[in-house]
Amino acid sequence: MLIAGPCSVENYEKTLTDALYVKSCGIEYFRAGAFKPRTHPNSFQGLREEGLEILSKIKKETQLKIVTEIVDAEHLPLYKDIDVLQVGTRNCQNFELLKKIAKSDKTILLKRGFGMTIEEFIGSANYLTAYGAKNVVLCERGIRTFENATRNTLDLAAVPIIHNTTGYEIIVDPSHGTGRQDLVIPMSRAAMAAGADGLIVECTKIPEMALTDKQQTINYDQLLEVKKIYESRNRYLSL
Ligand code: PEP
Ligand code: MN
Repeated sequence: MLIAGPCSVENYEKTLTDALYVKSCGIEYFRAGAFKPRTHPNSFQGLREEGLEILSKIKKETQLKIVTEIVDAEHLPLYKDIDVLQVGTRNCQNFELLKKIAKSDKTILLKRGFGMTIEEFIGSANYLTAYGAKNVVLCERGIRTFENATRNTLDLAAVPIIHNTTGYEIIVDPSHGTGRQDLVIPMSRAAMAAGADGLIVECTKIPEMALTDKQQTINYDQLLEVKKIYESRNRYLSL
């Protein structure tokens, strides 16, 4: 599973431009956040309902599968055109949210809480399956450590541990996992070498202009490189 797109839905035109590029790369899944849980209340909160409407239009226009974050189970009816419900790092242990969205028949992408152990992460995934979710995909997106050269420390050991101890698929987010555009490509390679089932990356036409997460968002040329790395994943596994 390869997922790419901007951090946030900012407006229809920008989102469509990025979606058409993602499609032209032969990538099946498009990401963009409509509801953005932010550290500060005065930061851009996403376009919310309007963002979801934009994503519905993008889906109709491009046939891409849409991945976007859900923060409140009451919002589920608004997500009818969304293919993959993303649970963000801050909600990985929001058990009431997990139990409720588990009832929907959509794929759920569960991002690891930045302060959670692998065992706790698996516990959250098990809530989803125990409450009815059919298709759960885990996402390693980095944890908080004392290291400050990167935004988070990308714990790639989680990938083989989850494969060896559970039946879950796990993809890697090198964008939030490093917070640095220059590290997305090397850590995509590392994720594939660790056996990850996929990648989710933030990408937009002009990263410097992005309203959220611009420092970790890659450009179109870099996305082509990530696509190549993803396509060569089986090579690593035979080494
Ligand atoms: C995101 O994918 O844009 C996001 C907010 O991710 P996380 O919840 O991992 O920080
Ligand atoms: Mn982001």
